[in-house]
Amino acid sequence: MKILVINCGSSSLKYQLFDMDKESVLAKGLVERIGIDGSRIKHTKTGMDAVLQETSIPDHKVGIKLVIEALLDKGHGVLSSLDELSAVGHRVVHAGEKFASSVRLDAKVMAALKDCIPLAPLHNPANIMGIEAVSEVLPSVPQVGVFDTAFHQSMPEHAFIYGIPYGYYEKYKVRRYGFHGTSHYYVSHRAAEMLGRPIEKLKIVTCHLGNGSSITAVDGGRSVDTSMGFTPLAGVLMGTRCGDIDPALIPFIAQAEKLDVKDVDILLNKKSGILGVSGLSSDLRDIEDAAARGEARSKLALAVLSYGIRKYIGAYAAAMGGIDVLVFTAGVGENSALIRSMVCEGLEFMGISIDREKNNVRGKEADIGAEGSKVRVLVVPTNEELVIARDTKRLVSEA
Ligand code: AMP
Repeated sequence: MKILVINCGSSSLKYQLFDMDKESVLAKGLVERIGIDGSRIKHTKTGMDAVLQETSIPDHKVGIKLVIEALLDKGHGVLSSLDELSAVGHRVVHAGEKFASSVRLDAKVMAALKDCIPLAPLHNPANIMGIEAVSEVLPSVPQVGVFDTAFHQSMPEHAFIYGIPYGYYEKYKVRRYGFHGTSHYYVSHRAAEMLGRPIEKLKIVTCHLGNGSSITAVDGGRSVDTSMGFTPLAGVLMGTRCGDIDPALIPFIAQAEKLDVKDVDILLNKKSGILGVSGLSSDLRDIEDAAARGEARSKLALAVLSYGIRKYIGAYAAAMGGIDVLVFTAGVGENSALIRSMVCEGLEFMGISIDREKNNVRGKEADIGAEGSKVRVLVVPTNEELVIARDTKRLVSEA
């Protein structure tokens, strides 16, 4: 069974074609600058060099058509006919409280996703555009939606209700939702598999640390708390996002700097985080280099970041009444031995200690716990596309 996985942004579209009999990736690619000058598609058949085509791509429908052409191409294609394509799975950011797991897409589901646009005004419209483009170009191919928020729908009320008047939850659905759910789901389940232990018996803290970062408490395979909130701005320090701050800072800065609400929103989303503290870059590699050269603000950014993550690990161990496994994933979590060691420093009291040698690993699965560490510490590269492909296969096979 061949399944196309699509992750659609407002001006970009990432895709992977899976052969689900072997769970292997046959081809992948990226359509960039949709609706902007200089649009192009980069397509890679597994085992071959990437092929780049610069062409006008005014909208997502044209983007999807180009993806299909690339997949059917005689040279770098992987399908001999569209009949081989069994289904398309889409990453969708926000499903509000409507879906706690992946679903087959139909008119009713699409209406529900449109209802969620106020909760994710930047992401959901782009995801919906991608789904509608596929419906137009491939009307008979079944489609599935896999949601970033779904895994966190198992959080108990006391973890998702904010301390503001309850009416705002009733009126606007203001609550903690959490994001990166597909990644937290994948790495927690993969961690249990790596350890050969049933996930139902494990208390796991998963640290998805990338440009955007979130930490999740996974108790018995279910998300019980997560650091992102109503939006992906909350939680630990991120590339350009501030993470947790005192909310009273917003009116204070707005007044002091004569900014309006939109300006403050941009300030906290785009100019804060590692970039804001370091004054240098949002990319952790730049910050590690600068800190190694002795730059004080970059050292501070590393310290704020690792201290914030460490506090969440402690908090989530308390929330679950223990911790058996700590998992690091995403760009920073998979690649930065420095951040992993800074985060784990001083956590020996709760049974977490890592082995310096084993920690010297990049981008691959590894158990980096020191011998005798009560808590297993794992690096697990995330694979959200594989989860989307698996869910899509399951849902179209059930029908
Ligand atoms: P992601 O959003 O998961 O793609 O993660 C992107 C971030 O991972 C980048 O902004 C970098 O800061 C970080 N990253 C990637 N590779 C490394 C590395 N080798 N060392 C440190 N940080 C890295």
